[in-house]
Amino acid sequence: MHQMTLAEIARGLADKKFSSEELTKVLLARIAQLDPQLNSFISLTEDLALQQAKAADARRANGESGALLGAPIAHKDLFCTQGIRTSCGSKMLDNFKAPYDATVVAKLASAGAVTLGKTNMDEFAMGSANESSYYGAVKNPWNLEHVPGGSSGGSAAAVAARLLPAATATDTGGSIRQPAAFTNLTGLKPTYGRVSRWGMIAYASSLDQGGPLARTAEDCAILLQGMAGFDANDSTSIDEPVPDYSASLNTSLQGLRIGVPKEYFSAGLDPRIAELIHTSIKELEKLGAVIKEISLPNMQHAIPAYYVIAPAEASSNLSRFDGVRFGYRCDDPKNLEDLYKRSRGEGFGAEVQRRIMVGAYALSAGYYDAYYLKAQKIRRLVKNDFMAAFNEVDIILGPTTPNPAWKLGAKNSDPVAAYLEDVYTITANLAGLPGLSMPAGFVDGLPVGVQLLAPYFQEGRLLNVAHQYQLNTDWHTRTPTGF
Ligand code: GLN
Repeated sequence: MHQMTLAEIARGLADKKFSSEELTKVLLARIAQLDPQLNSFISLTEDLALQQAKAADARRANGESGALLGAPIAHKDLFCTQGIRTSCGSKMLDNFKAPYDATVVAKLASAGAVTLGKTNMDEFAMGSANESSYYGAVKNPWNLEHVPGGSSGGSAAAVAARLLPAATATDTGGSIRQPAAFTNLTGLKPTYGRVSRWGMIAYASSLDQGGPLARTAEDCAILLQGMAGFDANDSTSIDEPVPDYSASLNTSLQGLRIGVPKEYFSAGLDPRIAELIHTSIKELEKLGAVIKEISLPNMQHAIPAYYVIAPAEASSNLSRFDGVRFGYRCDDPKNLEDLYKRSRGEGFGAEVQRRIMVGAYALSAGYYDAYYLKAQKIRRLVKNDFMAAFNEVDIILGPTTPNPAWKLGAKNSDPVAAYLEDVYTITANLAGLPGLSMPAGFVDGLPVGVQLLAPYFQEGRLLNVAHQYQLNTDWHTRTPTGF
């Protein structure tokens, strides 16, 4: 039962092959048995799950239908869940029970999804390895000595290990696509503004975007359908109609123009990954796509720009966690300054503190123009590169990451080495574009992802290309040994 995709679950529930309650019990038992190896959950919500499953079964018995009605999922632990701990992977929020549901959580619940729990993540979504979580590192089910990627590492490891079919995640600089690549999943970062950020604990507000992590493009379409849409509570949410993502999955790829940026194949890319990307290009050519070399000349500046803008926004967003208005409070403060210093010093981990310091520095008078403003100008150049490229092609294709999942601890002493691994993903966040990662093969037994980028609001196109690719390849069906 645990091998089923969301699409298969929807069919099974509609055909009364099993109930949501039965399926939920099977998956909860599987989580209890296997998750101790992975550490992919911060909180389990068994009671809520069984209650939601029974309610979904009752709705189906009353004649209701829907692809998410009775479907088990989990939420990354930065989506606020009413009355349930929402920790953001931090000691700062270890005892925070959100007073309301994030829009994404509420929308999925009303579509009938069943919440099994809250998944582990890098602290405040800062990281690429899920090692900065207050609740400990998450292991990659493909090799327990390797990281699952981050910051949505818990969602990725749980779905890859077949503990559940799909989960929500967020992507500020790659945190949906990179863990998808590292664990052999399909993950979609939507256009900025497509999915409401209301009730998503902010890391870098101009970059953050929620999206689905699942095993197939078909399942990402189902989950995105339940997440997307305008929300008056989020001033950056965009009022565009949500298309039927499942309906366009079968569009032919005949004549699809795919751009491959020459800058992607530089020295930093593992040659074995480059070869797998070329194989996936050939596969898409067989399906009718036309390949064209393109250029994204400002790509090399994206990492420095991102690692100024994201920390700058983070330093501002995280100022609310002061031990008074929000968050952990230290014991026996001597005075107000001591209260602030120790609450923040004890409540935030090392990586979060590093980013707050970098961000506050970049925003300070005297440095603002040199760093923050400069970074914003680079951001515009990155966007302009994409706009020029999309005049010539429909989709941009390349690797999701330059290397496969590294060993736990391998980059702990060198944060910049980890930042460099984000080279292919962060440009889409800087430009606000949608991006998808899908399985493309293995290197040393570790999964490799191919990334697709599309113009604004063309999530349906990305899912269509990925679905057609998955109908003709079987990488996404591979299961990690032991799970
Ligand atoms: N690795 C990037 C960072 O640490 C991206 C994280 C994310 O997308 N949340 O900022």
